[in-house]
Amino acid sequence: PKTETPETTHIFRSKLPDIPIPNHLPLHTYCFQKLPQLARRPCLIAGDTTFTYADTHLSSRKVASGMSKLGIKKGDVIMILLPNSPEFVFSFMAASMLGAVATTANPLCTAAEISKQLTASKAKLVVTLSAYVQKVELGEGRKVITVDDTPENCLAFSAVAEADEKDVPEVEISAEDPVALPFSSGTTGLAKGVVLTHRSLITSVAQQVDGENPNVYMKEEDVVLCVLPLFHIFSMHTVMMCALRAGSGILLMERFEIRALLGAIERHRVSVAMVVPPLVVALAKNPEVEKYDLSSIRLVMSGAAPLGKELEEALRRRLPGAILGQGYGMTEAGPVLSMSLAFAKHAFPTKSGSCGTVVRNAESKIIHPLTASSLPRNQPGEICIRGQQIMKGYLNNEKATAATVDVDGWLHTGDIGYVDDDDEIFIVDRIKELIKFKGFQVPPAELEDLLMTHPSIADAAVVPQKHDSAGEVPVAFVVAFDLTEEAVKDFIAKQVVFYKRLHRVYFVHAIPKSPSGKILRKELRAKLATTMHT
Ligand code: ATP
Ligand code: MG
Repeated sequence: PKTETPETTHIFRSKLPDIPIPNHLPLHTYCFQKLPQLARRPCLIAGDTTFTYADTHLSSRKVASGMSKLGIKKGDVIMILLPNSPEFVFSFMAASMLGAVATTANPLCTAAEISKQLTASKAKLVVTLSAYVQKVELGEGRKVITVDDTPENCLAFSAVAEADEKDVPEVEISAEDPVALPFSSGTTGLAKGVVLTHRSLITSVAQQVDGENPNVYMKEEDVVLCVLPLFHIFSMHTVMMCALRAGSGILLMERFEIRALLGAIERHRVSVAMVVPPLVVALAKNPEVEKYDLSSIRLVMSGAAPLGKELEEALRRRLPGAILGQGYGMTEAGPVLSMSLAFAKHAFPTKSGSCGTVVRNAESKIIHPLTASSLPRNQPGEICIRGQQIMKGYLNNEKATAATVDVDGWLHTGDIGYVDDDDEIFIVDRIKELIKFKGFQVPPAELEDLLMTHPSIADAAVVPQKHDSAGEVPVAFVVAFDLTEEAVKDFIAKQVVFYKRLHRVYFVHAIPKSPSGKILRKELRAKLATTMHT
């Protein structure tokens, strides 16, 4: 992309002032900086077990010591292949203490997918459960630690965690050293390894929870829901790291099951809930919700995928006492680009449907997708961000890094959006997802949002289908009861310009989604290509 002179660049910033950020520290030091005051506060809540901040810090140190005895040194990569659990947190923090790097993966991935990530990241150690061991390739001296049973050739986590915390080696960690290696979700192509440093993650956490008026005000008394998988950057950063820094309690849940979730919210008086749109659907629409007391919830933040306005309002009706809003993140952005200012200690008014305002200590701009010139307010274009929080680069992929972060330090997101008169960002869709009907652009997210306003539609996804004369046409997959294809088409046709009309509607039992709540359009497109003909 071509560079510009500052005079021609429209730059957007937070309404919150910049703050000093101690991003020269190692990440674990920063996260546990208030340990002396917090020592006896609850930190990790897992079932009936609660680990205080002192327990969590000590266990992390012991695990660091144990891993170091297994040969893990500065710069080495460990893979955490675990559901949400205390051991996930201990292992992550232990890696940071050793100057090592944690790469995280979904335990439900196939052996082939995991093997690819192990090879790309050169992970020397894997922390997992016995059930997943057969997915982990041994060899190259790779060691496996299991948290539950100890199958052959594996080491027991409990044994590793018995090491003397005083034996954690002194390591010199610089701000530029990598500490986390999450992989992007693979929504638009192959998942890419993203190198995040101590500096980038501390910056990103501070942008949320530090300062006199933090953008997301989390308190020591808060209990933060951790049901989103920690292997994804959203939960890893916005739940684990932000809550640790703020001194809140973290309620760890292994998986999403509606009754267990509602029961846990009620029992543990969850006050802050980080969610993704499919969870909002459940909270807003599932009849079970009425049976539980959710009055402890004071803040609900949705992120990782588009949340329709209608859905946000449906949830607002169910949780009248809570502040609702969105955050917008991307693994490469470290990850948060923008956050609702409704969550600030001294909040600002916000609009439903917005993804928040650009984070503090950072700059954003919206550029024309073709000319790359920066655009003024209310004009949609590609969202770009610059600041110390963004990734160092993609793992072993200089070409992809250069295509994403330009020479001036701007990260190009591939998302289309605009900034309104109140500095709020509205995402239209991803550049890659836009459907091209003749010359016209159709954002699937907009049609999905409309479909979801229909009382008989439980879920929906819109994808392009090849068309002889138009190039592409929008078609919908819907989960619905008592509806005909014509009724759905008419419902949309009445509300949109001609080129956004649906050409086909396919009824399905469920919309495929990723663990971070993203519609798996690849799967739907494949389904169209193989089985469905118009
Ligand atoms: P890949 O880059 O591998 O194709 P991915 O982009 O889905 O996968 P992530 O880094 O997990 O991987 O997701 C970032 C993307 O998620 C953003 O670029 C944006 O498209 C989407 N996103 C995140 N938050 C929101 C939000 N609040 N509203 C709409 N979209 C969002
Ligand atoms: Mg992406």
